[in-house]
Formats: sequence, structure tokens, C-alpha cells
Amino acid sequence: MSSELYTKLRRLDRGIAAAYKSAVGSSYRGSISKREARVIFNKAVDNERISTKEAKALVLIIDDARFGTDAKEYLIKKLKTSAAKEALRDGSGKLLLASSELAKLNNALKQFTNKINFKSPGSNIRYTPRDYSVIKYLINEHWLFVYELKDSGLHKRTKTGKGVYFSSSDELYLVAGLGSKSYASMTVHEVTHAIQDWRDIRSKVKYIEADAYVAQAVANHTMGRSISEGNKPWQVAYHGAGKMVYENRDGSRNQAWKDAYQDLVQAVEGHGLYSHKHNKRRNYRENSPVVDERKVYRIILRKLTRRR
Ligand SMILES: [Zn+2]
Repeated sequence: MSSELYTKLRRLDRGIAAAYKSAVGSSYRGSISKREARVIFNKAVDNERISTKEAKALVLIIDDARFGTDAKEYLIKKLKTSAAKEALRDGSGKLLLASSELAKLNNALKQFTNKINFKSPGSNIRYTPRDYSVIKYLINEHWLFVYELKDSGLHKRTKTGKGVYFSSSDELYLVAGLGSKSYASMTVHEVTHAIQDWRDIRSKVKYIEADAYVAQAVANHTMGRSISEGNKPWQVAYHGAGKMVYENRDGSRNQAWKDAYQDLVQAVEGHGLYSHKHNKRRNYRENSPVVDERKVYRIILRKLTRRR
């Protein structure tokens, strides 16, 4: 069985295949230790790039290989580091610059953000459609960079989410191959994080995420996407706080809205993506080493407002 895995790995990446073989032995019966998991990881990032094929090899190993104590967790942890993310960006990411490449993203932001208008009880920030226009402008003027990642599904194994926004580098990573509604929904979520970054907000992770889920849910309603019920943040947002915003039933003196928002915060707290960090404070102002983001943001907001 395991020699089959080796054969598949060899077709994808010889270095990773060799590291796998030396870990499990020529009988293919052994298991990968933590130290050997490190060797496999290092093979994948050796040229500071994780290609789509290398990502596929890692997915196969994570799914099918035998691991010793803590070894699999260790490999996954390494793949969640920013070094790994950057290697994935450089090895399997495509930077979208031309307007034709950005058309899908532009359409999503143009079509599905017009009902996003709420003041967050958590972060106290108000989000309006204009905020999304500003980020759209920034992306198209290349102040902010969008990458499409062909990661062979690696994000599912590392439980990273289909989109990630990096405030320190002003980069947005979106995995390739999503359906159009799923893509639009993810884009609105991540662009909400870009708004938070460029407005230099300070808040706890759970509120930062809850706000992004509200916006995403409003977009889902706007595009007529249906989401099943459940306790995942996107489900709670869709049937609760996001729906209220979509139907203009939110408001600072409205207890039902505050309760719905609080339910969503709880869903964020309870979700594996955030359980280790939801109470951490995030200060987006710290992450602006070169550009005064808030200033640029205000100037563009003024410019876009005047144009209307
Ligand atoms: Zn998020």
C-alpha cells in the first residue's frame, strides 16, 4: 500500500519522495517521526517555494502516510507558518495585476457589497459599501496585492481557510478553483480584513472575525446564496446578524441585533480556526511600516465620494 504512495510522490517531487522513503524504510512499513517530518517539510520549502506539485505531495503524505507521535501535527504546524505561506505564494501563487485578471474580484465587490452597512457592536466600526470601493480601488492601483493560489487543497489539511489577508504585506491570498459564489463570499470576507487593516483599527480577533462574517453573510444574501443552518461562524452569521443587516433590522439601540452579533462572536470563539487566538488584540496600526495606510485610505475615500 505504502509503496503506492511512494510511486505517486515520486511522480510529483523526487526530493519529497526520497525523504518519505528514508523515513518509512524500504519496506514502506515504518512511520514518519517528528524529525523526519521536518526533513520532508524542508524538502518542500528548500528553494523557498512550494510548487503546486509539492503541495499535492504534502497533501498525499498528510492523508495517507503513517506518522509517529505528534509528527503529523508538527508537519501541519510548520505548514501554517508565514514562511510556508510565503513559499506557497511564490511557488503556486499567481499575482493578479491586469484588469482582466482582476475582473472576477472586481465584479464580486461591485455586485455584492451594496447592502453591507452596519456598525459593529464588537469593534465599534461602521462598514459601508464605500469601504469596499476603497479597497477595490487600492487593489486595482496595486497598493494591495491579490494572489490566486493553486495549493492542491493544502489549506484544507492545515485548516487555514480558503482566503487569507496579510496585513504586514498588504497581500490577499485566495485559493483557486472555487465556485463563483464561494469565491465572491470569500473575497468579501478577506476584503473586510483589508478595510480593518487600512483603517488601522484595534480590536480583538473575535470581533475582527465576527465583522468579516457579517459582511460575508450580507454578500451571501445579496447574491441569493443559501447556507445550511449550523454552528459554524458563516452559518450563524448567515441566519442571524448578517440577515438582519441585509434586511435593515440592525441598529445600535436594537437588543435583538446585539444578541445576534453576540451569538456570532460565540460561534467564532468556538471554531477551531480561532479557538487559540480569539481573545488576542490586533492592532493594525503596527503593521504599516512604510505607508500611512489610514491617510491613503482617507484620501481615496474622499476621492471616491466626490466622484459620485
Ligand atoms: Zn477572517
